[in-house]
Amino acid sequence: MIKIIKNANVYSPEPVGKGDILILGDRIAHLDSNIPVPSGLGDVEVVDAKGATIVPGFIDQHVHLIGGGGEGGPATRTPEIQLSQITLNGVTTVVGCLGTDGTTRHMYGLLAKARALELEGISTFIYTGAYEVPTRTITDNVRNDLILIDKVIGVGEIAISDHRSSQPDVAEIRKLAAEARVGGMLGGKPGLVHFHVGGGPRGIQPIFDILETSELPITIFTPTHMNRTPELLEQGAAFAKQGGRVDITAGPEAYKGIMRLLNEFNVPISNITISSDGNGSMPKFDRGGNLIGLGVGSVRADLDTWRDVMVKGHVPMEEALKLLTTNVAQNLNLQGKKGCIVRGADADLVELTDDLEVNRVWAKGRLMVDGGRAVVKGTFE
Ligand code: ZN
Repeated sequence: MIKIIKNANVYSPEPVGKGDILILGDRIAHLDSNIPVPSGLGDVEVVDAKGATIVPGFIDQHVHLIGGGGEGGPATRTPEIQLSQITLNGVTTVVGCLGTDGTTRHMYGLLAKARALELEGISTFIYTGAYEVPTRTITDNVRNDLILIDKVIGVGEIAISDHRSSQPDVAEIRKLAAEARVGGMLGGKPGLVHFHVGGGPRGIQPIFDILETSELPITIFTPTHMNRTPELLEQGAAFAKQGGRVDITAGPEAYKGIMRLLNEFNVPISNITISSDGNGSMPKFDRGGNLIGLGVGSVRADLDTWRDVMVKGHVPMEEALKLLTTNVAQNLNLQGKKGCIVRGADADLVELTDDLEVNRVWAKGRLMVDGGRAVVKGTFE
């Protein structure tokens, strides 16, 4: 399986310039200003990008692959995601999670769905756990899951500062983080602790408390929904200044939070990531905690937020790309393999139109989207 994409304007995410990309199987084998089409090697597929911009496939580290929600009762459980809902938005790697409901949604189902999506063509990982502490696992505990189950790269999303959390105290969360740390080391994984942070006034104070009272490194903690309130964003800036990486949930106003982090708090862009919360429920509660509305998150929000950061926030493409590529790859210990266009990396590529829509997507060298349409669909799409 040899492919050459010719005349591409490559961002890796830093600008590489105009040239060709040679793909052997599922990997990028070579980049050069002109790669001649080899003869005598069997079929070589040549694709002319006609000068279009090609960027690394996006990595979304927070997607509810088998749905989530249920905060308004069984009829409000959100649906399972389908392959094209991911690929049409330029995402080629996802990390799946459960959510509020660790009872009717379980880790076995999440693991099976992650394996299914991998077979359908993209790259997948999962967090073990649900909102509660002690949390849901596949084996006896988080540490064993990290060591024994290939797809598990951390624990999450653990809810803190939220009325839907198990109201864990700092000691409980610290123990969980310690399990993730040791399990990650022994399993050769990042051992992340991915927090769902609610709107409660304590915000990420429990994480600061753990950092003060343990030897755990800040880099294993990846709190998300950090743009939920202005106060939480400010805490996120302090967390980032200590070397942490804050995750912003994509959405119509999300770019404003990112711009505040960059411009007002001078947070380096390398300390910020974006994720979609795709297929999670987006319940709205009144001040009394009563459910007053419900929506569903979409992976599409990644693309929109990234574009907002560039178009409305005036951040250069190569910088904005980091939010969904290299920065996330660093969280997941996938540097050089995902989120970049370099020799030896997986051939996860997105070709953009002039107005920054997705035109073509290759995942591990396979064409998934062509002309903005899914040419590879999930089994039941
Ligand atoms: Zn969440």
